[in-house]
Amino acid sequence: MIAWESAGATNVGRVRRTNEDAYRIDAGHGVFVVADGMGGHAAGEVASALAADSVLESLTKPANEPLHHDPDRSIIDAFAYARRRIVECSASDRRTEGMGTTLTLALLSTDGTLRVGHLGDSRLYHLRAGELDQLTEDHTWVRQEVRAGRLDPGAARTHRYAHVLTRVLAADEHTPPDILKASVEPGDTILLCSDGLHNHLDTGSLRDVLRSDDALPELVSRLVQMANERGGTDNITAVLVRIR
Ligand code: CA
Repeated sequence: MIAWESAGATNVGRVRRTNEDAYRIDAGHGVFVVADGMGGHAAGEVASALAADSVLESLTKPANEPLHHDPDRSIIDAFAYARRRIVECSASDRRTEGMGTTLTLALLSTDGTLRVGHLGDSRLYHLRAGELDQLTEDHTWVRQEVRAGRLDPGAARTHRYAHVLTRVLAADEHTPPDILKASVEPGDTILLCSDGLHNHLDTGSLRDVLRSDDALPELVSRLVQMANERGGTDNITAVLVRIR
């Protein structure tokens, strides 16, 4: 049996006027979510909050008590439910038409199983024994080109299309999330974050912060502060989970 502690923060950054990121933590159910919304007017904020609330609601509703019998199915169902809510909202309010969001979700079980549902370019990292691995794949055009061998990884970061997403949660997209599975053990740390963090902090910088034994709320604040010091060009969101 493992236990965990967690902390999260979101920050508007230094350039944007609104924060379209959202995060949710339900430590009791072991559910952690980061979403980064997009769409005109206030639609991005609506999309990320609605999606994050919907997956949390779906995964923690009492009728889902047998959740852990088929958690992969439950995660896919939760994403489908979130998408339906976005479809309904877009249909009833023209201002939210075309809105979408990234959605990265971690589901922890006390047996040490980590399951991840993922769409978009928010990320989930796993720190073990001082080494940091990015478990999620960015659903971006540049990442697709790098995988196909048509673009140099070094050029991808600064490419003019670096922020073009190939898969998100949106009304007109029917793509299911990536489902990943990993095991965690005491001493491991998980980071979920939006691109406003990982655009400014590379894997080495993130690793150096996460290696610290300081309290999680302090580490989350430090991550946000570092992203702001390096420009804060986008909304910044980080959720940390430490396994005990
Ligand atoms: Ca963003």
